[in-house]
Amino acid sequence: MKRAASLLAFLVLLVVAFYRDASSQSNLVREIAPGVFVRLAEPDKKIIANAGWVVFRDYVLAIDANYPWGARLILADIRRTTSKPIRFVFDTHYHADHAFGNSLFVDSGAAVVCTEDCMEESRRKNTPAWKGDKGEAEFDLKQWRLEHPQLGFTNRMVFDDGAHRVELIPMGPAHTRGDAIAYLPKERIAFTGDLCGTRAGNNMADPDADPENWVRSLDRLSRFDIATLVPGHGPIGGHNAIAPQRLLFSTMIDGIRAGIARGESADHIAQSLDLTGIHPNGEDVARNQASIKAVYAKLRK
Ligand SMILES: [Zn+2]
Repeated sequence: MKRAASLLAFLVLLVVAFYRDASSQSNLVREIAPGVFVRLAEPDKKIIANAGWVVFRDYVLAIDANYPWGARLILADIRRTTSKPIRFVFDTHYHADHAFGNSLFVDSGAAVVCTEDCMEESRRKNTPAWKGDKGEAEFDLKQWRLEHPQLGFTNRMVFDDGAHRVELIPMGPAHTRGDAIAYLPKERIAFTGDLCGTRAGNNMADPDADPENWVRSLDRLSRFDIATLVPGHGPIGGHNAIAPQRLLFSTMIDGIRAGIARGESADHIAQSLDLTGIHPNGEDVARNQASIKAVYAKLRK
């Protein structure tokens, strides 16, 4: 009887512990394949980019370092899935929302990996951007330090322990010069960074964007065997997430070229070229107009 009571008490404790643990798990974390995790963005906390990680036999490879305040939560989420050391973090490109949290990963023992072009962009552009930051309260960058990527690759970098294989593959110049994706051929998963988005809006107005080569890079991406596509921004998608982004950009570029040939101004084309029928990427009118003006300026050069 005594034994039964203590067994019951033990079981109650077990159940309580399970629920406490379950409730502390972020519901933003998805295990999309065994050992492959996505941590979705949380825009109300200014964590605007998706992140991920792959649990290898001996270590963790994280994908995108996010902002510092995002990195802190992502690191805690990683710790809830594994106790293995986080040895590497891969920046898909140098932009703040994907790379400014690098130092938190470095302090956790990781080396920051990206393409050599991304390393160069980080040094040249992130240094002044960090200095000029005007963030307030918890978003004030002065509480953290800028950490540039430390390991670079030009062709590709492969992580393979027999169970998992992750290929880091340069795709730029597209969204930025140093763009790269993380591709998992066995699970047919691609973490694309901002090369491919799955939401209304686009980043073509970014000064780094190379409009025509971005379209070619999307064509290259579409030749990958992809079942699950994790974008830099937007919900998790599949291979069919690539076509609308490509259509948006190719329609935009063609429309701008035709407008330039007719002698139209950037403003006129921005007002008249309607891309909102392209679902979902073309549905943000303000971003379309900004992108049209930016691409116009590049094509006129
Ligand atoms: Zn981004």
